[in-house]
Amino acid sequence: MIDMHCHLDLYPNPKDIVQQCVKENMYVLSVTTTPKAWQGTKSLAEGCKRIRTSLGLHPQLAHERYQEIDLFDELVLKAKYVGEIGLDGGKDYTQYQNIQISVLEHILNSTQKAGGRIMSIHCRSAVDSFLDCLTNYQDAGIPILHWFTGTQTQLQRAISLGCWFSVSPAMLATKKGKSLVEKMPKERVLTETDGPFARLNQKILMPWDVKKVIPHLSEVWKINPEETNITLISNLQNILKSIV
Ligand SMILES: [Zn+2]
Repeated sequence: MIDMHCHLDLYPNPKDIVQQCVKENMYVLSVTTTPKAWQGTKSLAEGCKRIRTSLGLHPQLAHERYQEIDLFDELVLKAKYVGEIGLDGGKDYTQYQNIQISVLEHILNSTQKAGGRIMSIHCRSAVDSFLDCLTNYQDAGIPILHWFTGTQTQLQRAISLGCWFSVSPAMLATKKGKSLVEKMPKERVLTETDGPFARLNQKILMPWDVKKVIPHLSEVWKINPEETNITLISNLQNILKSIV
């Protein structure tokens, strides 16, 4: 099982969650929302080889935490993964659009200078603006658009720019989400929960709930669940190989 976008540090009992992930043999990308949180979140998974911690600055926090950008620049040299970063065009955040873009451009530039990273991206209601930024930083690494909710046209543009996608049980529970997943190239899809933010049937998703995506993906890909798992693991191996 792979949870490529999970906020381990934001569960009320992160150490228990880490233990359970280890027990379940899960691969987890533990994303952070501010550079200051990276070290502490990383230490939660000390010694757990399959749990990696990414360095982030969430777009919804960009206007409050842009001062931490210097810390980002310092830590990106040590961090193998970047995220959660991106843009949020939701109505509560439109007033911060300029600062979000300048923070994102700074991050993409630093990440590019550091040699490129796998990046977990939030681009809610801001897909085109995100892709516009990305075109200026082609060597920043491989963006994985998490919980993609754009249009089919935006999806095609993202695919042509080399984006990957991490899909969640919550996303596949909607008709729109499902029709987007149908158009994603199978070899560029990974799975995620976005726990503890995301819920399914009012229940907070735990990292191991990611297995709920498998039957849906099997249906979309027209292969059995076992082959679906094999495909996902091979996708993970391929993305890891592409960034040294
Ligand atoms: Zn998230």
